[in-house]
This record gives sequence, C-alpha cells and structure tokens, in this order.
Amino acid sequence: MSQKRIAILTSGGDAQGMNAAVRSVVRTALDKGMEVYAIYEGYKGMVKGGDLIRKMDWDSVAGILHKGGTIIGTARSAEFMTREGRRAAARNLILNGIDGIIVIGGDGSLTGANLFRQEWQSLVQELAQSASIPPEAVELYPHLSLVGLVGSIDNDFYGTDMTIGADSALHRITEAIDAITSTAASHQRTFVVKVMGRNCGYLALMSALATGADWVLIPEAPPDVDNWKEVMAERLRAGRAAGRRDSIVILAEGAQDRHGKYIGSAEVQKALEESLGEEVRVTVLGHVQRGGRPSAFDRTLGTMMGYEAVQYMQNASPKEEPVVIVIKNNRIATLPLMECVQKTHLVAEAIAAKEYDRAMRLRSSSLKDAFDTLKTMSRALPSPLQPGQKRFRIAVLNAGAPAPGMNTASRAAIRAGLDKGHIMLGVKNGFEGLINNEVEEFSWMSVSGWVSRGGSMLGTNRKTPKGKDLYAMARVIEDNKIDALLVIGGWTAYEAAHTMYINRANFPAFNIPTICLPASINNNLPGSEFSIGADTALNSIVEAVDKIKMSAVATRRTFVVEVMGHYCGYLALMSGIATGAERVYMHEEGVTLKNLQADVESLKRGFESGRRLGLMIRNEYANPVYSTGFMCDLFEEEGGNLFDARPAILGHLQQGGDPSPFDRIQGSRLARMCLDYLLDACQTGRENSAFIGMLNGQIQYHDMRDFDRAIDPQFQRPKEQWWLGLRPIAQLLAQHGPQK
Ligand code: ADP
Repeated sequence: MSQKRIAILTSGGDAQGMNAAVRSVVRTALDKGMEVYAIYEGYKGMVKGGDLIRKMDWDSVAGILHKGGTIIGTARSAEFMTREGRRAAARNLILNGIDGIIVIGGDGSLTGANLFRQEWQSLVQELAQSASIPPEAVELYPHLSLVGLVGSIDNDFYGTDMTIGADSALHRITEAIDAITSTAASHQRTFVVKVMGRNCGYLALMSALATGADWVLIPEAPPDVDNWKEVMAERLRAGRAAGRRDSIVILAEGAQDRHGKYIGSAEVQKALEESLGEEVRVTVLGHVQRGGRPSAFDRTLGTMMGYEAVQYMQNASPKEEPVVIVIKNNRIATLPLMECVQKTHLVAEAIAAKEYDRAMRLRSSSLKDAFDTLKTMSRALPSPLQPGQKRFRIAVLNAGAPAPGMNTASRAAIRAGLDKGHIMLGVKNGFEGLINNEVEEFSWMSVSGWVSRGGSMLGTNRKTPKGKDLYAMARVIEDNKIDALLVIGGWTAYEAAHTMYINRANFPAFNIPTICLPASINNNLPGSEFSIGADTALNSIVEAVDKIKMSAVATRRTFVVEVMGHYCGYLALMSGIATGAERVYMHEEGVTLKNLQADVESLKRGFESGRRLGLMIRNEYANPVYSTGFMCDLFEEEGGNLFDARPAILGHLQQGGDPSPFDRIQGSRLARMCLDYLLDACQTGRENSAFIGMLNGQIQYHDMRDFDRAIDPQFQRPKEQWWLGLRPIAQLLAQHGPQK
C-alpha cells in the first residue's frame, strides 16, 4: 500500500538547508497525490498536536529556500523521551490520519523516531484500549512508515558524505577565519578559534584546510605526544621565523588529548601565551555557524534528499525497516537507518575508548586524506631533503578563464612538491608564459596567503598554442629543464595539454609527465563531476538571484537571469534548483518557440493566481536566436498589464570572489594527488599525460588518450553529464502546483 498521508518534522539542532528539504518533501508529496502535513516544533508539536500539526499546500513552502534554520520550527522534547509522550504523539498522528513520517534531524532525533516506529503497534493498541482513538484504528494503522534525513551542521553521521547544513556551517566558519586572518596578519597576532562539531572534527579540519590554519585539534586525532603544547608552540614560532604574519589554531569543541581529557580554548591560549610570550586571542564562533543563508550545496542537497524520501515512502512497503537518505559518492541513496545510527555511535564510543585509529576509519576516507594534506600544508618550512635524493623540476601553470580555487590548488601543488624535496617552478600567464619563458622558481613562503584568494596569482589567459608557439614552448621546457608539468585550468588548458600530447612525436620536449587539474566555473571538463570554481560561481549566482528576487517584491516582475557556462548548463540547472527558478533554459535541452509559448502561458497563469515574481534562468549559450534580450522582450510584451520583464546578466561576478570552502578543499586534494602522479611518473621514468577528476566519489586519473572519446568537441563539454539526471527534480519543484 502506498502512503497517502504523510508528515514532515524537523528536530534537534537546526541546520541551514532544512527548509529546502521541507519544501521538497511537501511539493514532491503533493505532486504524487499525497496529503502532507507539517509538524511544527519537532517532537514537541507531535506530542502536543492541535494546530501544531498543519496541512500544507504548494504555496505554504514558497519563498523559504534562502532562509536559514527551519520555518516549521524545531525543539528538544523531554516528553517524547517517555512512553507516555510517544503515546500522545501516536494519537495525534492517527487523529490526523497520518501513517508515514519524514524526520529531519541528528542521530538523537532519528533514534527517537526509530523507537517510536518500533513501539507503534503497542502504542496504538494501548490507545484503542483506553478509547483514546476509535477501535478500528488498530486495523487501519498497522505500521508507521519512517524515513530519516540527516540535518546537522556537524557532518557526524555514518553513511553519508555530507549532512544537510554542514557545507553552510563551513561557509560561515571560513568567512570568519578569513576575516580573523586579515586582522591577525596586520598585528602579527595569534588566534585560537573554537568551532562546533560535537565529537566530529569535520568542521575544524576542513576549515583549517580551507583557510591555511597553522594547527588543528580534533577529537578523532588527538596529538600523539604529551608535550603537544610545546610542539604546537614551536611550530607557530617556526612559522613566524619563516615569515608568516599570523598564527591560527583551530580547536574543535570535542577535541581531547590522547588520555581523553577535553582541551579547552583557555588551556590552549594559556599554553601559547606562556611559550610565545605574546597575547593570544580566543574567538568562540558559537551560533553564527548555524545561522545565515544556506549555501547552494545545502539547498540542492536538501532538495534532492527530500525528493528521494518521498519517492521511497511511496514505493516501499510500510513494513520495511526504516531508511535514512544519504549522499554517497555524489549520488543519493538509501541505507538502513538504525545501522547508520549505531555506527555513528560507534565513533563516539571509539573516541571515548581512546581508539582513535578506529574512530578515524569509521569517518569518511576524505577526513583522513584532508588531515594528511593539512599536515603538509601547515608546515612552517618543507621537510629536509633526503640524502642523495633526486630532485625533479616541476612546473605549475594556470590556463583558461580564472576560476576561484586556482590559487589554492597552485599553492597546494607547490608546497606538496617542495615538501618532497623537488624544485617547483611557476609559469606566469598561462601558455603564453610558457611560450615567452615567464618561468620562476617558487619557495614555500612565496605562496603564503594564496589559499583564500580568488583569481589567479600566477596569471592565466585563454591562449591556445598553435604552430610556431609549439617550438617556443618546447624550447622553454628544455631551457628550464622542466621534468613534469601540472596544468590547472579549464577547456583551453585541456586543449593545450592535449595538443602537446598529440605533438609529442614532433617535439620530444613534450615527452614529460603532464597532468590537467579541472578548474573552470563552467564545470564542463571531462573525467570529473566537479571542476574547481564551479561551487564558488554557483554560490555567487545564488546570492545574486536571492537579491534580485527581493528587489521584485514591490512589483510584479519576471526576471530572465543569464548565467555563464558556455555550452554547459550545469550552473543554470543547479542555480535553478537552489533558487527555485520556474524555468531553466540550457543548450543541452534546446529552446523552441513552442517552449517559450508554453512558458508565457505558465507565467500568465502564475501571475493571475497572485504570484509576484517570475524567475527564469538562462544559460548564456542556450540558444543563439532566443537570446536573453529576446526572451525579455517576449515576456514583457505578452505579460501586458499582468507583469513586466527584466534581464539580469550576471557576467563576471561569477568568475570572481574568494573560493568557496569546497573549491579550496577539493583544489588542495586534487593538487596533492596530481603531484603524486607526476612524481611517480618521474621516478619510474614514464611520460604519461593525464587529466584528473572526481568521478563517482573517487579521485581518478584518466589517460590523455581518452580525451577525444570523452568530449563533445563542438559544444566543448563532456559527452556524459551526471547532473542532467537532476532535471526531473528541478521540473517538479518549478511548477506552480501539483500536476493535475
Ligand atoms: P539531534 O537530533 O540533533 O541529535 P537531540 O539528540 O537533542 O538532537 O534529539 C532531539 C530530540 O529527539 C530529543 O529532544 C528527543 O525528543 C528525541 N530523542 C532523542 N533521543 C531519543 C531517544 N533515545 N528516545 C526517544 N526520543 C529521543
């Protein structure tokens, strides 16, 4: 039997992106012909009932995507911890005819939900016996269906790579630490920054990696020596001696030493003041981490998870064990709820039992990876040379349009190479610099501060080398004795590296290990589901569209927002999902006159029924004839007195700005892996050429031979684009109401 009447509630600590999930659950359920209720104030509302359980319609969740927190309220409920409370909750559900619930919360909330579901039959029987509900209810409500969604800024839940809210919290923390870094650097100060995360070090570690912090203390990996305070102070001192102007220590709230004793911020402060002989400031970030606008990722994640929860509830038998919706390797999936809750508790148990390796293993592999990267990046100076070691000369080059995160990746590559004892060369101004011999040796401190900077410090341009250029490049490679080349960039960067590869027979100098790292806001590169810069651009678009939407409140207006992406609709579709656009136009789908007519009709219906805003997002190359201007004129003309239309061409703000935490973290990870690849090739005498990327959650190397096969050369995008699979969700949510 499929569910007909379901309810959604948010419980425990609030998290950004919960609203996106609520909106998605409500609209998907309505679209499937279900009735859907919101239970306000979490379990408190379920126990209390009455007007805390309210029927939702399509518009009850309008205009909430950009809001932090949860509009249906959340609470902690002591009553729900008691059987009596849960009995009252069961009665309230039955009185409303609800037999399926979708709970968004942390492991506590999901444990409570599971217990409630297990007890359901006995609770219903008790209620019938005491005549609190009609006797036939026992037959009518034999089971309670339950699906869980993890909403938690801590990212502490087993089985999912990300929880709803963690990415936004990371945005808040990164912004705060960037700000602290600038004042700390001005005064040459030391700061201890305490971040949330309960017993999970995710936020602390990732923010440390994203901001170039000097030291991090997390629960899963306590310092391995008892005199860690001296070791830490020594590291900071060495950093200053090497020229660093600021010192930042990030402390996770659950951090402890190897004997299981909690480490407090005052303790770290005191130790550093004593050792360094200077004042040390403490900043406890507190609730700002929970607040503010949800990031683009959290909006999309909440939306996808909400959609999947309803799909699952519709298709699964209510007798089946409850599931939790997770994101694993960039795909939404379902896992048994209780198994995940238990494994989540295992991490806490492992930490309590001081089995730190086990705790780290239970967390996702990227946490360990990030920790290793951080240990290298935060060194004051590179590790000393090994006696007799062969030093390779490795060049790093940025090419194509600027993409936020290019500097972070270049810094990570340069430091990773220096730390292994090699000579790191920076090529200025892209392939033009390689043609003109703009090559410079880089030192550890020459990339200091690059971690958080937008644009390209090395310089980049869209030059694609041809003909004579190749001779010049070969010469420069030989003159500088370049042993291997890392190219960080977008489409033109890949094309240039590919040109070098296919011209190897003519230019022996090109027979060096080469690797491309995807960095382009367009996200149109083969072999990778994400390119560095796209997440930042997406967040910039979402922020701009939020403002544009607000400006329209006073009038009845349709906006046609044009976003970048060349022929790739990624930015258009994802920003459409994250901002609640009615329509997304992209080249992959094409635009026809018939489409536009239907859109005009749909807009008219919307405004006639009281809407005040129309939002259409158009990829820049969606169609050469039906341009942004054309569409606007069409909507303006057809809108008559109902609404007017305005274009908003977002332009280069999409390529600028400080890189998002994801782009910084991913850029650092990929750069380190690229270095490993190049060094391995150098050491084993191979001359591979490759491009790296994240596919199905794994970082993979692809042979340059496969470049042609992977791309659509005419439209400069990969043949397969995973995100096209999200179109049905975008379409469903963009409607003005359920499909009749
Ligand atoms: P989170 O869901 O963020 O982990 P809490 O642990 O505070 O937050 O749980 C939120 C609410 O979930 C609690 O106030 C309580 O109502 C309910 N809950 C948590 N654990 C249980 C449990 N073991 N049994 C019943 N209800 C629980």
